[in-house]
Amino acid sequence: MSRRITCIQCPMGCVMNVGFAENGEVTSVEGNSCGRGKKYAQAEAINPVRTVCGTVCARGCLEPVSYRTSAPVPKALAGDVAREAAGLSLCAPIVLGDVICENVCDTGISLIATKSIG
Ligand code: SF4
Repeated sequence: MSRRITCIQCPMGCVMNVGFAENGEVTSVEGNSCGRGKKYAQAEAINPVRTVCGTVCARGCLEPVSYRTSAPVPKALAGDVAREAAGLSLCAPIVLGDVICENVCDTGISLIATKSIG
């Protein structure tokens, strides 16, 4: 069994072929141009994760505040994280680096403001 994965670690976008054993273990990675791509393919094949970024409005300020997760979250939860962020009730001022949500979607991961507003 195998799966094609496009590396997103740099603009080259190498297309890799990842081979699996019957127990789901990665047995081979082909098509990568560097070790970084191989690591990415192995992780992406077994447990894909993403850093979620977005913006959310805050009372008292016309400008939305941008945020990112403090660590990558499972890719399957990225939409839920964005929805929980959209439902936050925030008040300006917010300072770059503020935690605007703790334990988002019970992941243990926080949402961090990536700019100051208000
Ligand atoms: S395998 Fe290496 S060179 Fe290719 S896209 Fe990934 S990081 Fe870039």
